[in-house]
Amino acid sequence: MSASTPERWHGIPRQEVPWYPTVDAQACIGCELCYVTCGRAVYDIRDRKAVATRPYACMVGCTTCAMVCPTDAIHFPNREVVRRVEREYKILRIVKEEARAKRGRQDALKARAAAEAAQAGLTSRTHMELAGEFGDKRFLVQLEQLIADHPVDLVNLQLQVPTVKGLMERTPAFMSFEVTSTQQEDIQAFLPSLRDLARSNGFTLVNEVNV
Ligand code: SF4
Ligand code: SF4
Repeated sequence: MSASTPERWHGIPRQEVPWYPTVDAQACIGCELCYVTCGRAVYDIRDRKAVATRPYACMVGCTTCAMVCPTDAIHFPNREVVRRVEREYKILRIVKEEARAKRGRQDALKARAAAEAAQAGLTSRTHMELAGEFGDKRFLVQLEQLIADHPVDLVNLQLQVPTVKGLMERTPAFMSFEVTSTQQEDIQAFLPSLRDLARSNGFTLVNEVNV
């Protein structure tokens, strides 16, 4: 586990805050619970005993390892040493600044999460499949006019017809395409007019899926 010793605690050089664990080697049974529990890599295990090899990596005020030690082998200074440091260095002014900065970071994270959620709910590409008679070009002309008036485009357009002559003879065929936004905007408001156009030309919407 990599060691990470913070240089300062609310602006105070960390080494001036005498908060760290001391292990009573006689009481330690080498269970390693403190070693695996500590997220600050304070401990090493040597000769089956816990040793606080990086004491100043300990989080000031934390007593987790002492709480879980099955033999009460871990001790900390009295909490008064921390309070004395707080008073002497007047850290509450610094804490206010840190709290302000933290709120700023959290607000930015929330705004980003909200923007991502909004983006996730956005439909900017929809795959559609229509069935009907495409021999008459009227639908394609109307389709062209419709998308010309909106910030959308149709891509991957495919027309599947049994035969060209069949198409001329109004044999039912199959068209698929994807409706996309040309401005990365939601296209939900545009889709009803496209469905209406398909219906009014006698086509059946056989599939529609957001992609
Ligand atoms: S939790 Fe306690 S007994 Fe277990 S290794 Fe750490 S100090 Fe020793
Ligand atoms: S008190 Fe917390 S940070 Fe300090 S050594 Fe124990 S578990 Fe690690």
